[in-house]
Amino acid sequence: MPEEQRITRFSRDEFVKQINDQSAWDVIIIGGGATGLGVAVDSASRGYSTLLLEQADFAKGTSSRSTKLVHGGVRYLAKGDIRLVYNALDERAIMLKNASHLVKSQSFIIPCYSWFSTIKYMIGLKLYDWLSGRFSFGKSSFFNREKVIEQLPNINATGLAAGVEYFDGQFDDARLAINLAQTSAAKGGVLLNYFKVTGLHKNKGKVNGVAAIDLETKKEYKLSAKVVVNATGIFVDDVLKFDEPGRQPLVRPSQGIHLVLKKSFLKSTNAILIPETKDGRVLFAVPWHQHVLVGTTDTPLTTNSIEPVALEEEIEFILETVKTYFSVTPTRKDVLSVFAGLRPLAADNKNLNSTKEISRDHKLLTSSSGLITITGGKWTTYRKMAEETVNKAIEVGKLVKTACLTKKLKIHGCTTSFIQGHFSVYGTDAAGIKELIKDNPLLGHQLVDHLPYTEAEVVWAVRYEMARCAEDVLARRLRILFLDALAAIDAAPRVVALIAQELGYPEEWKRAEVATFHQLAYQYLPDLKAGFNGEHNNRNQQPTDGQIHSFN
Ligand SMILES: Cc1cc2nc3c(=O)[nH]c(=O)nc-3n(C[C@H](O)[C@H](O)[C@H](O)COP(=O)(O)OP(=O)(O)OC[C@H]3O[C@@H](n4cnc5c(N)ncnc54)[C@H](O)[C@@H]3O)c2cc1C
Repeated sequence: MPEEQRITRFSRDEFVKQINDQSAWDVIIIGGGATGLGVAVDSASRGYSTLLLEQADFAKGTSSRSTKLVHGGVRYLAKGDIRLVYNALDERAIMLKNASHLVKSQSFIIPCYSWFSTIKYMIGLKLYDWLSGRFSFGKSSFFNREKVIEQLPNINATGLAAGVEYFDGQFDDARLAINLAQTSAAKGGVLLNYFKVTGLHKNKGKVNGVAAIDLETKKEYKLSAKVVVNATGIFVDDVLKFDEPGRQPLVRPSQGIHLVLKKSFLKSTNAILIPETKDGRVLFAVPWHQHVLVGTTDTPLTTNSIEPVALEEEIEFILETVKTYFSVTPTRKDVLSVFAGLRPLAADNKNLNSTKEISRDHKLLTSSSGLITITGGKWTTYRKMAEETVNKAIEVGKLVKTACLTKKLKIHGCTTSFIQGHFSVYGTDAAGIKELIKDNPLLGHQLVDHLPYTEAEVVWAVRYEMARCAEDVLARRLRILFLDALAAIDAAPRVVALIAQELGYPEEWKRAEVATFHQLAYQYLPDLKAGFNGEHNNRNQQPTDGQIHSFN
């Protein structure tokens, strides 16, 4: 893409100018996670004038905190939810084709400690293969005990009978989110982060727009639309209440956490699926960006937060479960980062004690005011959810009917060329980052010694990916905070300096921004005191600012 086009098509300043000039839209979408962004791609690609408003950063909510699987859901198969699995497997194939730079086939091994379970999983996974049909990511197969140990050198071999290998997809969630935003923008969509919807406008009882505030300038807007889509994940009830103040909640939040470890705890390119935890769930250990992601949990919560924090018992639960399956087992001080996400599960009121039983299917509903709400589902099914939502929007907003194009629409960055190494997740944009380094070799410096992320990627994120602050860069454009919270803490001052240089921010902003980011990053350490007193010094990395390392 030529330089000029990159800047004008995905620039916050340009988009703000556009909404100052244009106050009426076909479709306004509230929420910039997987669901809202999917709707923005679908709507803009069908030719509707489309505006998406996100109160924080794209994928700041649940959509950056998933297990990073593009999957039908082996677990749902065991529960007999065949339709859900079948639909998701179809979407898995579409994602691989249209976002080939980000989605890859991943082998999973289920270690089995009895012959009964080996046969049970073998049959189940053959059914999974069959449901994948011609869109298979690889055929499942039986592994004898020796093969399991060879493929998973850190597996606990005591009592191991055999294993089953199967294949699913894996991706980088926050990166796909930004690529979806860019895809929508390339089709004429306008997408703004740090832009919060504060109310709904109505005419004769019908929703015809939103009240919103630009959180950077504090300027308030009244924006009109033929149809408004509420895609705010765990926050859908807040928006539904703008419409109907006394209504019953639709969503029940369920927290899931992940621990990130060094890849030496897996010693394998295969992932592990632990098929039965004490609470009757599954647990994954998946290689991701040269680390291992272990999770997840399913903890019903009664409160919502945009920045949820892992509970003590969730961390302990994962470490305890892993102990049974690994021969060298991680302890708390081996955890490089812990992150939590909230599933926006569509709750039915009968089922309030256990969120693991609530269906992962999505819910699409239209209020009598015409407000469309879409929630639940999975990252894997974002495209299908968007297609259904826009079909509904055409009906509600009386838009000129056009067909959905997203089954064949390539996502920004998609390429069939092989891109070697760390920049591969950028797909076609990798060339642009390399160009930045060629023009200024200093930008080739790594942000921290043991991770491959470069200064050029920070500049790229600010110029072409709408990153506005340290967290946008370190948590979502680059995944350092999710991979290694202490490394992110160390990288923050340099990242902040680069952002300030790009956006023309003053010294005071830099100081405050480093402190704000550090405060956040300490929540990703499993134990604040261990992280601060022990691990950090063990790695010979000194705190970089000396002012925000005190905790009460
Ligand atoms: C632990 C865990 C693991 C998971 N693993 C997988 C997996 O491996 N594979 C898979 O397919 N799925 C997975 N999922 C499910 C998937 O992550 C979610 O279904 C999906 O991310 C939900 O996206 P969303 O857009 O609906 O919600 P969100 O990502 O939360 O987006 C909603 C957005 O709305 C914004 N918002 C809220 N209120 C306003 C407002 N007033 N104005 C403007 N913006 C607003 C929020 O800031 C937020 O960014 C997992 C989920 C969890 C929790």
